[in-house]
Amino acid sequence: MRKSVLYIVVPCYDEEDCLDETNRSLTGKVFELAKKKISARSRIVYVDDGSKDSTWEKIVGFAKNKKVVGVKLAHNVGHQNALLAGMDYARKKADIIMTIDADLQDDIDAIDKMVEEYQGGAEVVYGVRTDRKADTRLKRDTALGFYSFMKFLGVELVYNAADFRLMSRRAVDELMKYKEVNVFLRGIIPQIGLRSAIVEYKRKKRKAGKSKYPFRKMVHFAWDGVTSFSVKPIRMIFVLGLMIFLLSVGVTTYAVIQKLTGNTVSGWAFTVCSVWMLGGLQMVAIGLVGEYIGKIYIETKCRPKWVVEEIKEK
Ligand code: UDP
Ligand code: MG
Repeated sequence: MRKSVLYIVVPCYDEEDCLDETNRSLTGKVFELAKKKISARSRIVYVDDGSKDSTWEKIVGFAKNKKVVGVKLAHNVGHQNALLAGMDYARKKADIIMTIDADLQDDIDAIDKMVEEYQGGAEVVYGVRTDRKADTRLKRDTALGFYSFMKFLGVELVYNAADFRLMSRRAVDELMKYKEVNVFLRGIIPQIGLRSAIVEYKRKKRKAGKSKYPFRKMVHFAWDGVTSFSVKPIRMIFVLGLMIFLLSVGVTTYAVIQKLTGNTVSGWAFTVCSVWMLGGLQMVAIGLVGEYIGKIYIETKCRPKWVVEEIKEK
């Protein structure tokens, strides 16, 4: 039987501090796996996502080894798009496409089990974190809140699975048919719906360098996840509007009765309060609807999500 070719895609943004160790571990892993489980033509693909430090120079150095490929993106397009760029490159050459972050917080020893699941027939294998002690408290709590909120909105996510996963070429081909620009891979991949499996592992601390996901980017990422997958926020506004309307009917009846019985007071405070309250609510509603219109606007452009500048391979 022909052995499957595995490509491991690693997105890198300003990762000069940890790439040496990452490359040592990953090439070691591929070498070890190629002894029995996978083809010797398996490789590691580093995607440089427009780094400003010496990341690309390092990758060029690694690519002298036949097991390593470097793909340089013309500018920073963000983690999700960098992953897609790497997967799109890899699907032309590999049977199995894995993605893993450059900081090796995910356990590379789980790759063995993931490949076994693939060989057992799974098209997508999610790496699921059982232990997040290595993450900061803030990161854990916000992540937990996010997963619960997405569940409430009815979005299918694999709990505690991030972007450490294995996909068959077929699954990646299907993924590439999703033409949206606001990509949220964790939401799209379960939607593809091919046979999947889960491999658990413990998440470790970042090897070196700083997180490239500051709080601002995390909020942005979560917001993209919500608005790219759910129209429930719009419905919530609708329900709120309906409730306020019913309430205002009651208030109006009350006001009319007061008027008829001659009990009218100046009513200034009440009027001003309602004007401000309703004005505020309307603005929130318009803003929210605007968010979706903004998304439609961007989607209709169908811009390419990345541009490959250069490919280094032997
Ligand atoms: N990354 C990227 N482009 C970006 C930001 C991050 O390719 O604009 C990469 C980064 O180099 C790393 C991965 O995405 O390999 C995940 O980032 P990080 O480890 O900083 O995120 P965290 O683990 O803190 O969520
Ligand atoms: Mg990380």
